[in-house]
Amino acid sequence: MADSGNVNGKMGINTRLAHTGNKPSDYFGFINPPVVHASTVLFPNARAMETREQKYTYGTRGTPTTDALCDAINELEGSAGTILVPSGLAAVTVPFLAYLSSGDHALIVDSVYFPTRHFCDTMLKRLGVTVEYYDPMIGAAIESLIRPNTRLVHTEAPGSNTFEMQDIRAIADVAHRHGCVVTMDNTWATPVYFKPLDHGVDVSIHASTKYPSGHSDVLLGTVSANAAHWPALTEAMVTLGVCVSPDDSYQILRGLRTMGIRLERHQESALSLATWLEGRDEVARVLHPALPSFPGHDLWKRDFTGASGIFSFVLKAESPDRFKAKAHAFLDALSLFGLGYSWGGFESLALHVGLSDRTVAVAPTEGPVLRLQIGLEDVADIRRDIEAGLAAARAV
Ligand SMILES: *Cc1c(COP(=O)(O)O)cnc(C)c1O
Repeated sequence: MADSGNVNGKMGINTRLAHTGNKPSDYFGFINPPVVHASTVLFPNARAMETREQKYTYGTRGTPTTDALCDAINELEGSAGTILVPSGLAAVTVPFLAYLSSGDHALIVDSVYFPTRHFCDTMLKRLGVTVEYYDPMIGAAIESLIRPNTRLVHTEAPGSNTFEMQDIRAIADVAHRHGCVVTMDNTWATPVYFKPLDHGVDVSIHASTKYPSGHSDVLLGTVSANAAHWPALTEAMVTLGVCVSPDDSYQILRGLRTMGIRLERHQESALSLATWLEGRDEVARVLHPALPSFPGHDLWKRDFTGASGIFSFVLKAESPDRFKAKAHAFLDALSLFGLGYSWGGFESLALHVGLSDRTVAVAPTEGPVLRLQIGLEDVADIRRDIEAGLAAARAV
C-alpha cells in the first residue's frame, strides 16, 4: 500500500520512513504534500465560522503541510499528538512552560544540553520554579530527590557531550508513582534507535535540526506526547502562538525519507572511528555508549537499537594548564572537519567541549574533551584528518 495512512507498524523502519505522513491520494496522487503558505482560512458561512466546524481554522493551528509532518512523527514515536516548534531548544522550553507552574519543583539531569540549563536557571527560576540537577546514573534512587511539589523529571540520554546513559524505565516508574510528568530529549538516538514512550516517558523531545534535517540548514523541533499529556501541550502551543513555516516542515518530512539509511552510515563510521581512537596512545578515553568499555554500555544495549554518529574522546594531557593548548592544536590541524556547532548533517564537525556548568556529572580530569560529529564522508578520509589532529596535539 502506497497510502501512508495504512502503513503497518510492524513493517521495517525504512519502509515506514518512506511512507509515513501524507496520503498521496489526498492531493491528486502527488507523492509529496503541498507546501501551504497560510494565515487566513475561509469559512463557507457565518455558522461554520462561529462553530469552527472545519478541519483548518487558522495558519498558526496547522496546515496540510504541518499535519503531514506531525502524522509522520506520531507514527514513529507512538504518540497521541505532536507539536512543531521553531528550534530544538523551543522543543524543550515549550513543554516546560506547559507542565510547570510557580511553586513547582523540577528535576533536570545534570548532563543536560546547556541551553536547557540556561532556560531553567533564568526564566524558569524567575517564574518561581525550583530547579534541581541530578546524577544521570541515579536510576531508581531518584526517589530520594522527589518532593511533594515535584512536577517534572527531565531526562536526556545519552547526555550532551559526555554521553552518560540513564535508566529511563526506572526513573519513569518512580516519577509516575509521585505524579510527575517525564520528559526526554531524545535527539541523539532519534525514534529510529530509541522510542521514549515505549520506555515510560510521557513527552518525547527532538531537535529535528539534527538528523531529521540532515543537511545543516533547517532549524525545527518536535514535541510528542502520550494521550494523558497531549491536551496541556497543544494548549501551550496555541496560547504561546508558537508555529513553524511550511517550507521548513516540508524539508524535515523530506529528510525523514532518508534518515534511516543516513543513520546507518553515521553509526557505522562513528563506531569504527571510536574503536580505532580507543587504541591510540594519545587518547585517555572514548565516550561512546556503543563501546563495551563505556560505563553506561549495558543500558544502551538493553534499551537502544542503534547508535548515531556523534561521540567524544578525552585527549591525554599532562596537566590542566595544557588542556586548552592541546585541544586547540588538535582542532586547528583538521581540514576535513569543520569547527562548528550542531550536528546530524552530512559533514563532519569537531569542537572542544566546555563542561564548567556541571554540578554532578563533572568533567573528565585526564585531558580536554573533544566532540566529533562523524559525517557521511568516506571513513578513511575522516580517519586521516583525525590522525593529523592527533599528531598536532602530540607536538604541543
Ligand atoms: C542541538 C540540540 C538541541 C537544540 O536544537 P536547536 O534546533 O539547535 O535549537 C536540543 N537538545 C539537544 C540534545 C541538542 O543536541
